[in-house]
Amino acid sequence: MHPPNDRHPTHALAARPNAFANGALDRLSGKRADAAFLDAARADPNGQYCVLQAGSVLVNGDGAVWLGPAAASLADARMPLIFLGMTADAAPVFAISLPKRVDIAESMIAGLGDMLDMRAAATRLPPNDLSSVGAAKALFEWHDRNSFCSVCGAASQATDGGWKRKCPSCEAEHFPRLDPVAIMLPVHTDADGVERCLLGRQARFPNGMYSALAGFIEPGETIEEACARETREEVGLTVSAAAIHSSQPWPFPASLMIGLICIVLDDAVTLEDEITDVVWLTKEEARAALSGGVNTPQGKVWAPPPFAIAHQLLHAWVEG
Ligand SMILES: [Zn+2]
Repeated sequence: MHPPNDRHPTHALAARPNAFANGALDRLSGKRADAAFLDAARADPNGQYCVLQAGSVLVNGDGAVWLGPAAASLADARMPLIFLGMTADAAPVFAISLPKRVDIAESMIAGLGDMLDMRAAATRLPPNDLSSVGAAKALFEWHDRNSFCSVCGAASQATDGGWKRKCPSCEAEHFPRLDPVAIMLPVHTDADGVERCLLGRQARFPNGMYSALAGFIEPGETIEEACARETREEVGLTVSAAAIHSSQPWPFPASLMIGLICIVLDDAVTLEDEITDVVWLTKEEARAALSGGVNTPQGKVWAPPPFAIAHQLLHAWVEG
């Protein structure tokens, strides 16, 4: 099977090269509740099926493996078949989740590819593949964690091509969880007019890696207010302006990363517990951090790889 594969999406919204974004499927969200439409899509011999298992995806080389409709028989009976949308040439696209206990080397798909962790897949797959398998990962993990109705406790059932759960007891409808995160690059201009950006480090990061600050947006906050609160709480700086740069689906497990570049009033950092260290980098230093690393008093500092939106924020600031 060929993938719904276009390495270079040309539509205007694809201007930001954020991983997991820029898919080209028509999601047809208005058709998900149409049982006859979904039945016909499942019966379509041109259907294309990607295969996930416990957060990993079946890949071959640099692409996801797309199987025919027979693949549906491999799916975990606990998990819905997810309808991801239609390709430009009207092939329906689905995702299946293999049972965790199945060893693919001993299954009917042995030899077709290898299961690859989704973070590793993010560095290899083209945008259309990554957008599809990332959405499928987020949905399967939501189903896995939400078997029971949060209103009455009865077992709920997946419906609408895997995009909804419905409770047969109290009829409550449940939709996939999506957690918005503000991720920001604070920028300060000193008295001599030199602009620097701030990167922070958490204990769990690999040695030498520093990244943008980030935190979950809370009920009752705007994106910009969350950006200002997290910046104040994490490093003690006051944000005077914040602009959204771009956003990124981030299926670990259900985040939407909203990237901002913000202006801070001073550079006197006060560290709280989550951030263990910070560096201020000029544009020249940040450029070096993006491409291998920059030497600083704290040692060699490097930025996250391109599949992380933090890399794209830093790149956007460096390139003005
Ligand atoms: Zn219920």
